[in-house]
Amino acid sequence: MRKKIVIANWKMNLNIQEGILLFEEIQKEVLLNNFNPIIILAVPHTHINSISEKLSSNIYISAQDCSIYENGAYTGDISAEILYSVGAKYVILGHSERRKYYAENNLLLSKKVSIALKNNLKVIYCCGETISDRESNTYFEVIENQIKESLFHLNNDEIKNIIIAYEPVWAIGTGLTASSFQAQEVHLFIRNLIEKNFNKNIADELSILYGGSCNPKNSSELFSKNDIDGGLIGGASLNSNDFIKIINSIK
Ligand code: PEP
Repeated sequence: MRKKIVIANWKMNLNIQEGILLFEEIQKEVLLNNFNPIIILAVPHTHINSISEKLSSNIYISAQDCSIYENGAYTGDISAEILYSVGAKYVILGHSERRKYYAENNLLLSKKVSIALKNNLKVIYCCGETISDRESNTYFEVIENQIKESLFHLNNDEIKNIIIAYEPVWAIGTGLTASSFQAQEVHLFIRNLIEKNFNKNIADELSILYGGSCNPKNSSELFSKNDIDGGLIGGASLNSNDFIKIINSIK
């Protein structure tokens, strides 16, 4: 059965003291409750080690990006191997903020995906259309290219270590949310695409998460859809009460 997953994306927020405080609030709830979904916290790189050392629950820690290079003279970059060595088990790749502000494209992302997997990190691969893609009705094509060009070089074993997050760019941090109908339509499209290129079993087992202004008010409706297996949560993950409510809204 495919896994239900809720991921917090802290982005570039919270200093180390604030991060540890939020982590401890979340971990306390996780230890008290037997939550069904897998919980992953994508924290700033500098926080991965300290938070990993405080883990006493089945929360997983993720990085928010990694270098395209294995190692070497790349000042300021951080490799998948280093991230894994300090406790990261996952890495987010292809977030729309990286595509927009750092011009990351599908080809570059395909290389990052391979480097991450090679170094034992599971990948949370983000895709999603801009508002103009949606308005011009080209969103299926855009999403298909993002997935084909960054993931279709993987073999059947490698693709099993991928989680896909559908994040319409127009919904991220804007307070606008895709309707559950809009999200389900794209999630099903993605699952069918994976089935065509890999196989039905892999497609059935793939967790596809929704991201984009998901909050405690809209999460249960989104998560009630067949092909929505959880969420990638930005803003609402910075408040432990809201984040726990979102986790609880998964059946
Ligand atoms: C995100 O950054 O992945 C995200 C979904 O952000 P928000 O929930 O704030 O829209």
